[in-house]
Amino acid sequence: MYLNPLTEEEKRVLIDKGTEMPFAGEYVNNTAHGVYVCRQCGAPLYNSKDKFESTCGWPSFDQEIPGAIKRASYIDPRFGQEITCASCGGHLGHIFEGEMLTDKNIRHCVNSISFKFIEGK
Ligand SMILES: [Zn+2]
Repeated sequence: MYLNPLTEEEKRVLIDKGTEMPFAGEYVNNTAHGVYVCRQCGAPLYNSKDKFESTCGWPSFDQEIPGAIKRASYIDPRFGQEITCASCGGHLGHIFEGEMLTDKNIRHCVNSISFKFIEGK
């Protein structure tokens, strides 16, 4: 598998499981039509149609592309359930359930720096 070289800040999030500052990521308010792919390996992770405005400060989705995301077996009571790219294991963010923000009642809270947006498709 080809892995894109990562910057220090990308490594801090994708490899060391860091979190970017709320409202600071480049895709927080992105409403364009397209697909979000893993910044490290390029695997498609989320479709723009599943992104919703959560006001939490990070890009939020209530559905992943089937099979693209791996959930940690452990749920941290404070930070939620960690999600990683199923292809390369890169850290994406956390999943929160039961907030009643959408009909699916789930929020994938993802760092902008963990993926890249490809407009179109
Ligand atoms: Zn990946």
